[in-house]
Amino acid sequence: MSDESFKTTVDVLLPLALPGAYSYGVPDHMTLDEGDYVAVPLGPRQMIGVVWKKPGGDAGSARLRPVARRLDAPPMAAAHRRFIEWIAHYYVDLPGNVLRLALRAPGALGAAPQRLGYRASGALPAKMTPQRQRVMEVAGEGPVFMASELADMAGVGSSVVKGLVKEGALKAVALPADAPFRAPQVMAGKLGLSAGQEAAAAELRAMLSQRGFHVALIDGVTGSGKTEVYFEAMATALAAGRQVLLLLPEIALTGQFLARVEERFAAAPAEWHSGMRPRERERVWRAVAAGEAKIVVGARSALFLPWKMLGLIVVDEEHEPAYKQSDGVSYHTRDMAVVYGSLNDFPVVLASATPSLESLYNVERGRYRHIHLPDRHGRAELPAIKLIDMRRAEVTAGRWLSEDLAGEVGAALERGEQALLFLNRRGYAPLTLCRACGHRMACRDCSAWLVEHRFRNILQCHHCGHVEPVPETCPACGAVGTLAPVGPGVERLAEEARARWPEARLAVLSSDLVHGRALTTLIHDIAHHAYDLIIGTQLVAKGHHFPHLTLAGIVDADLALETADPRAGERTWQLLAQVAGRAGRGDRPGRALIQTHLPEHPLMAALERGDRDGFLAQEMAIRRSAGLPPYGRLAALIVSGTDANATERFARLIARRAPRAQDIKVLGPAPAPLSLVRGRHRWRFLVKAPREADVQAFLRAWLSGIEAKGALRLAVDVDPYSFL
Ligand code: ADP
Ligand code: ZN
Repeated sequence: MSDESFKTTVDVLLPLALPGAYSYGVPDHMTLDEGDYVAVPLGPRQMIGVVWKKPGGDAGSARLRPVARRLDAPPMAAAHRRFIEWIAHYYVDLPGNVLRLALRAPGALGAAPQRLGYRASGALPAKMTPQRQRVMEVAGEGPVFMASELADMAGVGSSVVKGLVKEGALKAVALPADAPFRAPQVMAGKLGLSAGQEAAAAELRAMLSQRGFHVALIDGVTGSGKTEVYFEAMATALAAGRQVLLLLPEIALTGQFLARVEERFAAAPAEWHSGMRPRERERVWRAVAAGEAKIVVGARSALFLPWKMLGLIVVDEEHEPAYKQSDGVSYHTRDMAVVYGSLNDFPVVLASATPSLESLYNVERGRYRHIHLPDRHGRAELPAIKLIDMRRAEVTAGRWLSEDLAGEVGAALERGEQALLFLNRRGYAPLTLCRACGHRMACRDCSAWLVEHRFRNILQCHHCGHVEPVPETCPACGAVGTLAPVGPGVERLAEEARARWPEARLAVLSSDLVHGRALTTLIHDIAHHAYDLIIGTQLVAKGHHFPHLTLAGIVDADLALETADPRAGERTWQLLAQVAGRAGRGDRPGRALIQTHLPEHPLMAALERGDRDGFLAQEMAIRRSAGLPPYGRLAALIVSGTDANATERFARLIARRAPRAQDIKVLGPAPAPLSLVRGRHRWRFLVKAPREADVQAFLRAWLSGIEAKGALRLAVDVDPYSFL
């Protein structure tokens, strides 16, 4: 503590799990306002925080430490600060934890670092080599490049460029600090819209011209051309000088999509996702704060960028569970996009072929506009869907495709068309069992079986990532060569496919086999028919446009139904309808075949009849009578600890402290379905409340005074999407 006294003080929120903002003294030479980014001392370190409140007045002799410095960045807007507080309140979390999401590029707080480019000086090096010659050619013409760019373009190592600099053949030139973003052209790549698209676009334009907060749901079947429609809304916002955020559930899959945005607006959009390098992250952060990046295509955390004049958020594939953050602050991106729009008074557009019941409910209640696109674009038709009853189907032991499905795949391949087989299971086999003693290979630290990944010759736990080699002998009975795989994963399905169709060019799409740029390339190549047969996990259900694909086969439709998730029916419908929707998007009609043991299940029957509205009405009725979302509210409490007994005792203590409330029900504690993860034992509570109940107040009252000590943890999940 310093003994200095300050004329004024400020409360600074730090990106840490602290109960509130901390007070600091303002040195006399410094002027600070709410929203300013500052560096302050905390213990022995310095940290970046945001001036949250300015109590003002005479701080007298308060023994405070001084703010170290004010950072040279536009202050955080008041609405942004309110947004952070709103999230912390709603998700019963700490504002500092939410602030951390908004400080993901600390290096961007300040001037951009100087960049140097090199151009030919006119002097030639003493010794000329072919490599040097190529560099000099690139450096002599057109724009000025950085050393790494020169080396890349000339196809030489960086030492060649360095050598030329040293000898004076290249001279340094200062470049603008950040490479600029091109301004989008609102009419550039505009396609002629169909009558249906035009009507939908007109509705969106009208909504935007009203100004203020509105939400529209574009509910259009797969391939209906929703993207072109929301591009029109984006064009309207851009023409009004506003920035636009386009949110996608999984940015890794978007190479094809980014190119489409670039084509439409004649400018590459800024990207924002967790896989970016710090330098690029900082560039985007600064350009968003300066209002220079007009279009950002981003993953969920893009909501927390320092928007200067955001005027529209589009949430594509709004039904995707990936929008719910599962670690850290457990916010739902779609819901928070809507909140952000309402706090800042601008519109939000949601789009999906399989909208969430939450959004449909808001349409029903007149809160969201409904923009319907019932037909596919152009001549394409929705695929016909047929069920295959696996209780009666002809299936050879050790194979997973019924002869019906295999026959259809073979026929499609013979016609020179593309086929897709969907199985939402990574790896070779979900279980490995000893045929001698019945031992099952399980994770040491999780209540889960180890999944065989034959391609890498390992057993892996899908919950903690633990990996071990496939053993030669059974660890329980010592028998040799008795361990056998049980059930299929995509790798095993690929094995069957290779045996059946050795000539087919096969692509396996699974997150553990291919990611990053290789995945983008693979998706591009599939779209261009470099593969005949695609086998994939839910990676294939994500809005891809594969024009040559005419057959979608769903190998096990029942997997997602066998969970404790109250959204299991909705989720299964979304997944199956999306996978089926990959077929027949081009010139030739498509079909989808669904292997199921539950053909009488109302969901399967509705899929086959193409009766989406019937299925959704029934699902809504179930939710309503059970008081489940969207008719009621849920929150989960997850208690965990390394000691089984201590964890259970803690869960029971929490149970005894539950406040009494007439309308709010607490279920549990019960051991979580996933009762052990990474060596931590887990118990769950589920809180069920009517829509109008104040769940947050209930949770706060309940948890105040409960402290998780030592290895114990208590996590709150408002609007949970995981029930494991
Ligand atoms: P959705 O997102 O609804 O599944 P897309 O927007 O991807 O559908 O459109 C499906 C296909 O139709 C894409 O290849 C797209 O380029 C094409 N398309 C959509 N609208 C038009 C249009 N107005 N003119 C030409 N092609 C279009
Ligand atoms: Zn594990």
